[in-house]
Amino acid sequence: MSHLLSPLNQHQQLSLLEHLDVGIVILDTHFQVSYWNQFMSNHAGITFEQTLNKPLFSFFPALDTPWFRRKIQTTLSLQNPSFVTWEERPWLFPFKSYRPFTGTAPFMYQNVTLLPIIDGDKPCQQLAIIIYDVTDEAVSKQALKTANQELSQLSRTDRLTQLNNRGYWEQCLELEFERFVRTQHPTSLIMLDIDHFKQVNDSYGHLAGDAVLIQLAKIIKTMIRSTDIAGRFGGEEFGILLPNTPAANAEILADRLRYKIETTPIVYEKETLMVTISLGIAAADSLYLTYHHWLEKADQALYLAKQRGRNQFVTL
Ligand code: GH3
Ligand code: MG
Ligand code: MG
Repeated sequence: MSHLLSPLNQHQQLSLLEHLDVGIVILDTHFQVSYWNQFMSNHAGITFEQTLNKPLFSFFPALDTPWFRRKIQTTLSLQNPSFVTWEERPWLFPFKSYRPFTGTAPFMYQNVTLLPIIDGDKPCQQLAIIIYDVTDEAVSKQALKTANQELSQLSRTDRLTQLNNRGYWEQCLELEFERFVRTQHPTSLIMLDIDHFKQVNDSYGHLAGDAVLIQLAKIIKTMIRSTDIAGRFGGEEFGILLPNTPAANAEILADRLRYKIETTPIVYEKETLMVTISLGIAAADSLYLTYHHWLEKADQALYLAKQRGRNQFVTL
């Protein structure tokens, strides 16, 4: 013998709607409220009696947009449900968030369903707006996104100098080389290395050496354009990628950098240190088969600059 549930009577149905943990608003074709459940009263601070037969937009003027009116009208005319996710619009109704675990959210994130209420073959006259509080989901998804961004930022950054690390910088170099092969726009590469850096470490200690590296990275950052890409290539060797820059312009930057470093005292504890750098410049060339050849060329130029007496740049 089966025990079928007898269908709910109208009173029971209403009581069910009242206690659902989602917002339900029923509108007619003039955007007037014909039903509004307890969830809505609680969050809006407006009772059902106050809203009955009044236009929804008189309570939420910001909702009165061509976009929302069109959305409601299409739902009614096509008689198909439609959806608005929090990722498209974080919220429709300006409700505060009271979630205990996500107290940081200033408002309630909402997913919204617009559901046509179909009554036989008659033209659709009413629609339900169903509001789901998805604050917990939205907040944790955003926290995860931020954490992932921080992680990928960390994995690309050199700890000491906060410049791009070698792995990421080489990826950029490879991309830039591929772009050069496609577009043939001039693009240059500077490799630079601190002169007699071993002496700095030997005379003042490794921490003083680190302070020099940090200061040098800062100077590089302030002197390059936002489209240039600087990275720490090795111990005291750095690379600067200059997209859309011919060698002649790279030389101007190289000499400015060289001069700035030569003339900037680096203060570490009670010591004042002075260092110089040597630089090698190479413009991308269609003769190079891979970016490695480009890098080798700049490295050869740097080697020549060292051989010729340091504190200078050489272009190859
Ligand atoms: P050159 O003018 O030919 O470049 O001489 P150099 O002394 O700079 O060159 P060398 O390659 O002989 O020495 C590089 C030194 O850089 C050796 C190493 O101890 C130091 N070094 C590499 N990485 C770091 C670092 O992260 N911190 C410090 N303090 N020193 C480093
Ligand atoms: Mg060196
Ligand atoms: Mg070196």
